[in-house]
Amino acid sequence: MIIDRYGRPLKKLRASVTQRCNFRCFFCHREGIFRSGEELSPEDYGFVAEVLSSLGIEEVKLTGGEPLIREDIVEIVKNMSKYMRVSITTNGFFLQRLAKPLYEAGLERVNVSLHGLDEETFRLVTRVNVSPKVILDGIKEALKYMPVKVNVVLLSYNIKFVPKYIELASEMGFSLQFIELLGNDYPQKINPVEVEKVIARRARTYYIRRDMQNRIVYILNNGVKVEFVKPENSSFCMGCTRIRLSHDGRFMPCLRMPIAIDAKEEIKKRDEEGLKEKLMMAVKARSPFVRPERTRPPQSDP
Ligand code: SAM
Ligand code: SF4
Repeated sequence: MIIDRYGRPLKKLRASVTQRCNFRCFFCHREGIFRSGEELSPEDYGFVAEVLSSLGIEEVKLTGGEPLIREDIVEIVKNMSKYMRVSITTNGFFLQRLAKPLYEAGLERVNVSLHGLDEETFRLVTRVNVSPKVILDGIKEALKYMPVKVNVVLLSYNIKFVPKYIELASEMGFSLQFIELLGNDYPQKINPVEVEKVIARRARTYYIRRDMQNRIVYILNNGVKVEFVKPENSSFCMGCTRIRLSHDGRFMPCLRMPIAIDAKEEIKKRDEEGLKEKLMMAVKARSPFVRPERTRPPQSDP
């Protein structure tokens, strides 16, 4: 297993498969990738999964842009799931049609973003004329095959829906993930602490996901699981076990750092040793974006 300079094991890959999207969420960080460029092929992703799994990377989360916009997304999942566990984060628009084929290709879990529960709020966030019902229908279909987690970026627009999200989660059987908005220039940004306090009071118990940025998962009295993603703290960064891959074959140590190691040539040439070297270069560049006061990297290389 690969351990970085801060003692953090590398266990997960977060792979963006496209920059394209059918929504235009006003806050979208596009996983820190702001350029187009040729998308890797399903065979390329299979090769990446094979090589990275041999180094102890056990899981991949496919993201984007909108991953389900790719016509060959089922093939990508099929090729990668031979080597590692595969999950997807999606806006849910194409999920009703694709949930079953994705499951058959090896998809184990899905995160569906749903930032509003009425048409007006949904449109304010996504800037497209789509009813949230379309997304809820996709969630319902996916739940027949796999666990679903609903992602909600907490905003002044949607905070009023928190009780309704919990009610729906209980009725339909999904879990919830409330996410702090990244970026300081949005008037719609709210601090998730107050929401978390209310949830914590209603929780029967909680646990911490140590290999997932030390996130807290509360289990409410009705059985619903509610997780908080709050990236503005050092515990989050010290619990990070992931490396990122862009749609055009660049390894990125962190969403919030402008560092990218281009491995496209090695991927295209199926150069296993070259790809491992590029990965290690990215691992060396890994450092916690928000650091605890006294954390210093040791002097020796990993
Ligand atoms: N299109 C897919 C979707 O929306 O789920 C996958 C890509 S999207 C970039 C991945 C996740 O990041 C989504 O849950 C989205 O809501 C979240 N996200 C995007 N921009 C964000 C921001 N500025 N702050 C917090 N979360 C953000
Ligand atoms: Fe960004 Fe996802 Fe919204 Fe598309 S759906 S704009 S990728 S957050």
